[in-house]
Amino acid sequence: MVFHKMNTKKNQPLIFGPIKSRRLGISLGIDLIPRKVCSLDCVYCECGKTLTLSTKRKEFFKFKSTISEIDSFFMANPNLQTDYITFSGHGEPTLYSKIGEIISYLKQKYPQYKVALLTNSTLLYQEDLRKELLPLDLIVPSLDAVSESAFNKINRPHSQLTVDMVLDGLLKFRQEFSGQFWVEVFIIPGINDSTEEIVSIKEWLTKINPHKIQLNTLDRPGTESSIRTPTISELENLQKLFEPFEVEIYNSKWNEIHSSSSLSSTLSSSTSNSTSSTSNNSNIEDAIINTIKRRPCTLEDLKVALGANNTTLTIESTLKILFEKKIITSRKEDRGEFYFVI
Ligand code: SF4
Repeated sequence: MVFHKMNTKKNQPLIFGPIKSRRLGISLGIDLIPRKVCSLDCVYCECGKTLTLSTKRKEFFKFKSTISEIDSFFMANPNLQTDYITFSGHGEPTLYSKIGEIISYLKQKYPQYKVALLTNSTLLYQEDLRKELLPLDLIVPSLDAVSESAFNKINRPHSQLTVDMVLDGLLKFRQEFSGQFWVEVFIIPGINDSTEEIVSIKEWLTKINPHKIQLNTLDRPGTESSIRTPTISELENLQKLFEPFEVEIYNSKWNEIHSSSSLSSTLSSSTSNSTSSTSNNSNIEDAIINTIKRRPCTLEDLKVALGANNTTLTIESTLKILFEKKIITSRKEDRGEFYFVI
């Protein structure tokens, strides 16, 4: 496993990982957005509150320096093994105005890698953006609500956005795009899990016809402390409501119960077969900081994310060092002790 060193000059690591992603397997992340610019301010966001709520696409980082950072990463890691190069991170990746050029560059210069995008779907109504995204291999857009009231409650959008714009963009892009199209629905009990809302989401999913549906749940502290993760019986009920769709459920307790088919077991086994872990302390420090900067993690999460079967002790001792340096802190939650960057 290779870790990219943090670019301390901009204090904005553009490339992170590769990490073990819950949903995508091994994933090398590219983060094109400063902390934290987004068109939504979701109640469940694991990156914290949106600081700049915007729909304006910008070249946040110069295209040339972004490309040169990507090239130096691949020069230093010529045998990189990853399932995807994934645009994700601190905010909404499609707000980066040159994302299309970056995707085309990756596909031309590094055709051996598949390129994926995690997006909140809000800008897909823009025809120009949809054209830019066509060379992707995989897109995972979100659809958490189809009623305006649930959309406003769960996603707290920019004032220029409506749920109809999101639905229009999703339908159009599904028709135009030939790659894999998976839709993520994030479930927050009491906000978007009523039978009425789920049945309406299902009706729209039937029209959109994605290759896969992923039900996601709160796994880390969200922006709002009042929200919670669904119980197992609520998840079972949701699974029934979505029938005949087969949905993948991302929830730690659910995965424990359904461990034989769960993603976590897949990840564990791929972890043990993964490329060698790093023994370089500063690389481990950077890898931990880069990972928890985007999403708070438990020790178990870090072990899975960093593919560090033989460096569990290293992760624990590095966490201790980062604590002593006052770079990180922790908080006890239901699922365990979560580490945050201060
Ligand atoms: S969850 Fe994604 S879309 Fe929602 S606020 Fe966070 S970064 Fe933005």
